[in-house]
Amino acid sequence: MIDAKDIETFRKLLKQELAEIENPLPGKTSSEGKESFLRQRLRLEGALHRIDNGMFGRCCSCDEKLDRLFLNADPAAPFCDFCEEEIEVSRQAR
Ligand SMILES: [Zn+2]
Repeated sequence: MIDAKDIETFRKLLKQELAEIENPLPGKTSSEGKESFLRQRLRLEGALHRIDNGMFGRCCSCDEKLDRLFLNADPAAPFCDFCEEEIEVSRQAR
């Protein structure tokens, strides 16, 4: 279960990561392509929106509760493992 305290921890993490993305440290920038940069920024912003909406910790596709360990690994993850895989497959098929 994710409680309010966890959500605050995740909020801090997400804001920190977003700040790092917007103000990259010298030498830490260019290995990531621009597309993945934008994508990660959208993911982080989306996760912060979901915290505000009280929707954080659920898969955006199937509404399944996300595992806390899963969120620890990637706090910005919008989908559960299963949906993420489905989306990845359809993305590659294009
Ligand atoms: Zn899902």
